[in-house]
Amino acid sequence: MANAQRIMTLYDVPMWESIERRKMALPRCSACGTFRYPPGPICAECNALDYEWAEVSGNGTILSWVVFHRQYFDDHPQPYNAIAVRLAEGPIVVSNLVGDEPDGSWIGERVTITYRRHLDRLQHAFTLQNQKSTQLNRGEDA
Ligand SMILES: [Zn+2]
Repeated sequence: MANAQRIMTLYDVPMWESIERRKMALPRCSACGTFRYPPGPICAECNALDYEWAEVSGNGTILSWVVFHRQYFDDHPQPYNAIAVRLAEGPIVVSNLVGDEPDGSWIGERVTITYRRHLDRLQHAFTLQNQKSTQLNRGEDA
């Protein structure tokens, strides 16, 4: 077994540098405004080549989720989760949910980006926008 490895292409390096600054950015098409994820050389919507790096809001919605009860990598002891998040800007990012977990299905839960140290790098992760502990502190129903 080994640690999970990042794939680092020419277009991924600026994204990982933005994550290291805790301000995740993605290429945004200069012609139509579509965000590109994974970062790449051409717009999937209009085929334009020009782009600029733009910070994402970090807000999104869980589209899918899974909890792994088998260990596949040394740096991901089980159980651990993976979530697919549609960012407010449009792209779908695969990440992890940290902190409170929803009861029942996680699909449709609103989440916000956070960053956490993983081995030699920062990685994005997401937290529920409505943390149970926050709700309890405000005296609302959990
Ligand atoms: Zn475009």
